[in-house]
Amino acid sequence: MSELLLTARALLLRSDRWCGEGGLSISAGRVVAVARGRGAVARAAGRASRRVDLGDVLLAPGWVNAHAHLELGALAGRTARGEHFGAWVRSVLAAKARCTTAQFEAAVLDGARASLLSGVTALADIDSTGAAARIGARVPLRLWAMRELLDAHDSTRTEAALARVRRRLRSGVHLREGFSPHAPFTVSPALARRVAELAQRRAAPVAVHWSETQEEVEWLRSGGGPLAALLGPSPRRSGLDWLADAGLLRAPLALVHGNHPLRGEPERIARAGAVVVHCPGSHQWFGRAPFDWRRYLRAGCTLALGTDSLASNESLDLRRELRLARAAAPGLELEQLIDAATVGGAQALGQRGQLGELSPGALADFAAYGCRVRSRGEALEALLDRAVGIESVWVGGRRAHPRAR
Ligand SMILES: [Zn+2]
Repeated sequence: MSELLLTARALLLRSDRWCGEGGLSISAGRVVAVARGRGAVARAAGRASRRVDLGDVLLAPGWVNAHAHLELGALAGRTARGEHFGAWVRSVLAAKARCTTAQFEAAVLDGARASLLSGVTALADIDSTGAAARIGARVPLRLWAMRELLDAHDSTRTEAALARVRRRLRSGVHLREGFSPHAPFTVSPALARRVAELAQRRAAPVAVHWSETQEEVEWLRSGGGPLAALLGPSPRRSGLDWLADAGLLRAPLALVHGNHPLRGEPERIARAGAVVVHCPGSHQWFGRAPFDWRRYLRAGCTLALGTDSLASNESLDLRRELRLARAAAPGLELEQLIDAATVGGAQALGQRGQLGELSPGALADFAAYGCRVRSRGEALEALLDRAVGIESVWVGGRRAHPRAR
């Protein structure tokens, strides 16, 4: 098997592992060995069939965007902003109804390209229109089409929601797939149970919007609050109990937002191996109180980062999300943020050890940052530094940006 040796002035293999003068031996799209230091590089060069020196750059794992809705890029600039979540939902539904299939597909393609330019190499994309499933094979990064299901607690809509997803599964079997029962307040327990069975049978990851607003928490537990007028009878269960009852509280599971955890819930999430996904740009869009990273970290939870969509965010740049998160939680260690954007996202997709790190056996997905660093601390800082550009992005050991002419 032919082996490529890629060398660089510095490598950040994971947030806690750094080396100056190193290289990655790559075969069949995976990292087969890491050479740390000049001696190891010389030995690896003896085994390699080809060597490429990327020069004065820092190599670091590709980012994993754990939550996006690329199709909603078609709505950019046409949605409400601010604290009134209901007004935003109404503006999304109205704008979405005016979009064509071609516009959703173009948004997925544009969004995937923009993500790649910010160093994202894997992305969990909520697919409500089927656009990601149709276009997914053409995007330049690893895209999981997380098929969205919802029936608004209306049993007459349950079978139709399932049938729609089954049809899409048949048409896109080559794709990396997952499932996204939208949220405990929009999905009936019956539909949630069916999705749990489907995901388990297909060993697919699941993503659920969970505990985003106080209003949904209130309606789920007691049937009260402003959502009572819009929704049917409440399950009178917390969102996490609803997930557990359905058989969904098991890895790989992404719980998206998690702004209002109840007592003991972060510990339950940690025990289940589920991941809480925070979307800093979207959080800022709605003017929310600071996300409580520490509460989850204290409980031993794994966190991941997402961009959410261009209907509630200004960009799909995960480095910007990292900067926003850092500004909102200044006491956090930089390693904790970088972990969320790499190995945390990998865990949310059930891809720990495959994505988000440069270790033997992992997929060779990484970016080359145009900077000179002399320590691990400088490397971590460079990844967030707006002044440091990305020179190239590699997916499966092949250059995905800029594309060879
Ligand atoms: Zn979302």
